[in-house]
Order: sequence, then C-alpha cells, then structure tokens
Amino acid sequence: MKGKVFLLNDAAGFFIDADRDTNTEFGIIKAKDLKKAKPGSRIKTHTGKVFFVADPSLPDFYRRMIRLPQIITPKDIGSIIAHSGIDRNSSVLEAGAGSGFATCAMASIAKNVVSYEIRKDFAKVARKNVDLIGLDNVTIINKDIKKGIKGKGFDFVLLDLPDPWSLAEKVSRSMKIGGRLCTYSPSIIQVERTIKALPPALRVETLITSNENPWKVEMDRDILRPESSGIKHTAFLLFCRKVSADT
Ligand code: SAH
Repeated sequence: MKGKVFLLNDAAGFFIDADRDTNTEFGIIKAKDLKKAKPGSRIKTHTGKVFFVADPSLPDFYRRMIRLPQIITPKDIGSIIAHSGIDRNSSVLEAGAGSGFATCAMASIAKNVVSYEIRKDFAKVARKNVDLIGLDNVTIINKDIKKGIKGKGFDFVLLDLPDPWSLAEKVSRSMKIGGRLCTYSPSIIQVERTIKALPPALRVETLITSNENPWKVEMDRDILRPESSGIKHTAFLLFCRKVSADT
C-alpha cells in the first residue's frame, strides 16, 4: 500500500504513512511490512503488537479532519440525517460549508451535495476535507449563497449560517415539493426569526435539540458511568417541508 493507511486493533485506530517506518506507542510499524498489505491484512509492530489494515470510515476521518472554530458535531449530524429524508437519490444544497464535516456526512449518503462557503480560506479547508475522505460527489462553491443559487429541485437544504431567515424564501424556490429545509441555529431568537420569515410553501415539520450522553467505559477499573464533562447545548434544528409550488 502507498500513502495513508488506516490501522486498528482492540486498543487503538490511527492513520499512518505507508511509505515510511512509524513509531507508535505500541512499537514501530515497518514500511516494508505495509508494502503488500491490503484491507484485512495483519501487521505486527516490532514489539509484537498486532494491528489490522482497514478501510477508514466517517468517524475515523472526523478525528483527522481540519477543524474550524464552528463545526456540526456528530450528535447533530445524526439528527440532521435522520430527519432529512436523504437517500442515494437525493440532491443536497448546503451553506456554509465551514470545515465541511456536515458536507461529508451528507455526501456519504446522498447522490450529490452543492455547498456554498463565503470565505475562501474555509472553502479551501472544506475541499481538503472532502478530498481526504475521497468523495467525488461534492461541489464547494466559494460564494455568498445570497448572490444566487445554482441548480433547482433540491431534496434537502441545510443552512448553517447566522441569518437563515434571510434565505428562507430563496432556498424554498430551489427546493423540490416534499423536500426539506433544516436550519442549524444556536439561539432560539434565530429560530423565531426564521419561522416568521418562512414563505407559505414551507411548513414547520419539527424543532429539536439533540443530546448525546457519552459514558466512561473502563471495565478493568470497574468504571461504567456517564462522563462528567462533555458538550451540552449546540444548536436548535428546525426542519421545514416544502408543501406547495408557491414561493
Ligand atoms: N456546518 C459547518 C460549519 C459552518 S459555520 C461544519 O460543520 O463545519 C458557518 C459557515 O457559514 C462559516 O464558514 C461562514 O463563513 C459561512 N457563511 C456565512 N454566511 C454565508 C453566506 N452568506 N454564504 C455562504 N457561506 C456563508
């Protein structure tokens, strides 16, 4: 194998460079042992610790992606995808891309994702993260979404920007009847403004906050209890459905 390779075992999972020897806390992984490796191959470090080569998946990339200050966390991604109705035939519109985590999560499921990002540096990061995962169904557009939307008939629209209310009518026009819009807003004041600005074609379907409560699992120390710290409030997820052809 060449380039980045994902290795895992019962204790850890990490990306390493297949082209050179890598020093890990579990011993040295030799580049020569990785030459003929493929997913499923068994690799031993110089201390005898066994690892397997595996295809990385979204949570593995999540830990490695370049992160900008605000990102949509996995707990919210889960809720967004569950309520979005997207499947392999869906076209998705998004703004802003930010670091592109939501973009990647949606593109792993949908037919394609078109994502607007106003900042050039952020658009570059999003592109890098999309390429890291190897997705070829994502278009990142480095432009203010308010200046115009390319394409029509989107099945799902995700708006994670400060003023979704100012786009409600515009995105409604680019959506399919039956399609859904989700706005991701940290403050309920933003949600209220968005609801008030909805065009008649968009009906509120649900408004949720989602919680994930990770537990500490250390059986050898008899520890099995909720973590004492973690993420609390992130954002309100407002889901609206396009119910008619009116704007
Ligand atoms: N969902 C992203 C984070 C988005 S943060 C993630 O999970 O990584 C909000 C982003 O919206 C910022 O990157 C900001 O630059 C972008 N943005 C704000 N207004 C915009 C606009 N009018 N058009 C396009 N992008 C916009």
